[in-house]
Formats: sequence, structure tokens, C-alpha cells
Amino acid sequence: MAITRDDVLKALSTVTVDGGGTTLPGSGRLSQVLIDPGNRVMFSILIDPSEAERFEPVRREAEGRVLALPGVSSVLASLTAERASSAPAAGAAPRPPAGPGTPPPRQGNAQGNALPGVRHIVAVASGKGGVGKSTTACNLALALSAQGLKVGLLDADIYGPSVPKLLGLSGKPRVIEGKILEPLQAYGLKAMSIGLLIEPESAMIWRGPMVQSAITQMLRDVAWGELDVLVVDMPPGTGDAQLTMAQATPLSGAVIVSTPQDLALIDARRGVTMFRKVSVPILGVIENMATFICPNCGAASAIFGHGGARHEAERLEVPFLGEIPLTMAIRETSDAGRPVVATDPDGPQAKVYREIAEKLWGNLTGAPAGRAAPRIVIE
Ligand code: ADP
Repeated sequence: MAITRDDVLKALSTVTVDGGGTTLPGSGRLSQVLIDPGNRVMFSILIDPSEAERFEPVRREAEGRVLALPGVSSVLASLTAERASSAPAAGAAPRPPAGPGTPPPRQGNAQGNALPGVRHIVAVASGKGGVGKSTTACNLALALSAQGLKVGLLDADIYGPSVPKLLGLSGKPRVIEGKILEPLQAYGLKAMSIGLLIEPESAMIWRGPMVQSAITQMLRDVAWGELDVLVVDMPPGTGDAQLTMAQATPLSGAVIVSTPQDLALIDARRGVTMFRKVSVPILGVIENMATFICPNCGAASAIFGHGGARHEAERLEVPFLGEIPLTMAIRETSDAGRPVVATDPDGPQAKVYREIAEKLWGNLTGAPAGRAAPRIVIE
């Protein structure tokens, strides 16, 4: 059964705000209501950052009321502190509680507000799309897991989620304990992707604050449990949305993936600058597609030039983590949902990712490369 915006507004008009005097749609705090073809409903509630705690029960109630509508498959309701859209808000004229220019809420940062149970959150980012960021994030997560670490992979690439394809995942995550989602499992990783929750087309029209809220929810409302590291596949680019997200995610550090071409390096530089701006440590730069390995003769050729990312890392005084060659094996396995580190763990490609993961872990924790930190078990 198709859900209409009116159905949603009707359900939301049973939710009251501001001491019970006003309905949520009538309060001017409700953003545009989006419904995708899979009957997934998304909206946000405009608040002042100082109201976050007070409005969390309202958000939950609103989510519950809409979820109770027959036919609704999922609801993503978020609190946001920026004017949600220039499109007409539902029910009433938008009344942004915070003045224009008010920064979005800082739900976390590199210094604090970390995720309970998760020791490190590491962003994998790139200055532009198509450089192999997601493939690298996925294989790095698997390589960290191969070191004996407990690893999660969060696909926050809201404009082009590829983790479901990379890990061969499908189906919707199970809801446990009310609104908490159970991460999916693949090759020993816990994984969650925005692609499993919404149709990618719906995310395309989201504005920065909605993207940020969705990511925050995927961090907070997923039962990640105990993790040594949560690898976050970030959306490509260094625009405002990425900056806000880098700021709002409690990151321990960031990894920048680049190809060796000059143009990609300019973008990588912007990536480094962006994370520096929000005081997130750069754990290193990775050169992807460094050399092309001929599938027939095995000869290596530097079709995009070679070594550019290493030099750029030196110039920017950030660590260089390593080079990943361009190989058929990496492309075919990623596109088939059988990532090379998991399916050919003793092969040459897996070795490259493992070495990079070891350096990454070392830079993250100061621990000797390749050694997971000891786990204390209390019986
Ligand atoms: P991004 O996340 O930067 O957009 P992807 O990880 O989706 O990039 O990769 C884009 C394409 O390049 C995919 O088809 C992927 O299989 C391929 N690819 C990525 N890295 C490599 C590599 N080292 N060797 C061969 N193909 C690669």
C-alpha cells in the first residue's frame, strides 16, 4: 500500500510539542516529509542545539507514530538545528528555532562524545569519487579484522553507498530493542550501510544537516557492540556536507585515498586540509591504482604516473601508508561482493592491504604494527 504525505502528517499531528500546546506539523519545526518508493519515510525536526535532549522523546514518539502506519517499512526521523529546506515545510511556515548562520549541532568531535564500546572510529575519505575509496575502506576493514581486531564497517557514502555490493549484502537490517538496528555480518565484519536503509535516490536530495543526522543515527542507533575500530566510508569530496560530517562524527583519525594523478592529488590535499580544519588527525594517505598489474604477464606499469601520493604526503607532512596496485583481481572481487582480503587472504593483494592496515593501526594506537592490543577478560 502506498503511503502519502498526508497519512504521515496526520500521524504526526498526534504528536505535540512545546508543552502540549501545538502539534508537530503545526509547530513549524517539521521539515519536508520524504517518502521513497520502498515506503521509507524521512523527516527531521528543527531544534536549537540546546533543545536536543528535550526533543529526543518527541523524535522517538514521532518515529513510532509513523512506523505504526500500515505499509510504512521504516522511518528515519532526526533532530536538526539548521533550516531544513527551502521547500515548503509541512503544515506551517518553517520557523527555524536557531537564527540563520547558527552552526549545526556538534554531536561529537575528535576529542569527545565517542561511541560507547567502540575504541576508534576511522574515516576513509577521498577528495573525489571513483578513486577506490570504498574498495579500500572495505579491504582495510577486513585486513584489520585479519589482525584479530573486532571491526565494523559503516557505509556513510550517502550519495553512492557501495558497501552492500562490496560485501555482497542485501536485505534490511533487523530492528532490535525498539529503534536499534542490528548490523549485518559479512566476512567477520559488522556492517551497516545507508544503502540498506533507504533508496539511494532519496539521499541525493538530502541537504547537509539531514545527511549528518542520518550518519549520527547510524552511529548511535546501531548495535555495534564492542569494536576495536569502526571504519567509516565517507562520502567523497571536501564540501560543506563532508566538513560538517567530519566535525559531527567522533573520529579518531582519517585516511585519505588518492590515485597518483595530479588532479586527484589536489583533491587529496583538500581532504587533508578539511580534516585539519576540524582537528581530526590524519592517519595517512594511501595511493590506490598506483601501478597497473597486467593480468597476462604480471608486468607492472605506472599508467597514472606513480609515487605522486607518497610525495604529496611528505609535502603535507602526513604519514604515507602504502600503495595499492590496479589489478583485475581487486576490481572483479569488489564488484562481485567477494573482497580480495577475505577471499584470497594469502594472495599478493591481501598482503598489500594487510601491510597498510598494520601501519594504520600503529599510527592509530602507537601499538607495534600487526599487534592487536591485549584484551582483558574478566571472568
Ligand atoms: P569510490 O568509493 O572512490 O567511488 P570505488 O571503491 O567504488 O571508488 O571504486 C571504483 C571502481 O574502481 C570499482 O569498480 C572498483 O572495483 C575499482 N577499483 C578500486 N580500487 C581498485 C584497484 N586497486 N584495482 C582495480 N580496481 C579497483
